[in-house]
Amino acid sequence: MGKRKLLLGLVLLLLGAGAAVMLLRPSAPDPMGSVGLITQPTALYSVYLDFEENAWTPEDRQFQAGQLSLALDWLREQGKEYGADLNLTTQQEDPALACQASYDGPIGDGESPLVSEFDRWTQEVCRQLSEESDQERVGVLFFLPATGQSYTVVYKPEYENDYYYEYSVIFQYRPHTLENQWPGPAVLAHEILHLFGAVDLYPGQQSLSQELAEQVIHRYPDEIMYTVYQEGETVSLEEISQQLSPFTAYRVGLTRDLEDLSDLEGLTAESPGVWEPVSQP
Ligand SMILES: [Zn+2]
Repeated sequence: MGKRKLLLGLVLLLLGAGAAVMLLRPSAPDPMGSVGLITQPTALYSVYLDFEENAWTPEDRQFQAGQLSLALDWLREQGKEYGADLNLTTQQEDPALACQASYDGPIGDGESPLVSEFDRWTQEVCRQLSEESDQERVGVLFFLPATGQSYTVVYKPEYENDYYYEYSVIFQYRPHTLENQWPGPAVLAHEILHLFGAVDLYPGQQSLSQELAEQVIHRYPDEIMYTVYQEGETVSLEEISQQLSPFTAYRVGLTRDLEDLSDLEGLTAESPGVWEPVSQP
């Protein structure tokens, strides 16, 4: 899908002509959103978003694509550790799975117009990939040449048919660093794992009880959903040194084996690939 086509789709949606697109949402509640289990064939579509004041150069785009390849290579290696041959497709395998597009509104946070566009944009990508290549499991990675904390929007069962579409927003530069710094492949792998149902394990997360999270990170201190940093809060642009632990492997459906984890207090059998927030006491 080229840039022009996607932009046209976006313009149509902005004009409110997206009624047919709504049919894509499953009529019965799907426990998963547009991205399913990591073991299912899944397309990860990259959108390089230009802002008026900051556009992607071909060199930066190529570098970011290389970082994405490193993340995917790592995910495939981790999959093999659990006996799975992952069928994840990105722009590396299919150049049509990327586009460069522009946005000229404010970035902001929270309720900004940009945030409200991501869902509709992802919906449009899903529709086109479904129609053109029968690809039913799709997530979008939005790459922003801006400073911010990367995040992922995942579907939760209580949303029913709202917010079905799943995407990650990857900021090119991390906040709170003295110099602008690329996010690194570990951040990309972390956000992609969220798309498949992995939950954060660091203090203050809202996905599972803190007691359970602490037990997991005590046992797997290099777990990628706990930390994406190396020593000194730096990120590597060359490799991922973190681990995809049996806990995260279980959450994303790479394994259904709870034996290694059975002594963890508060661990319950849950649907793989489904992200459910737990209310904190
Ligand atoms: Zn996270």
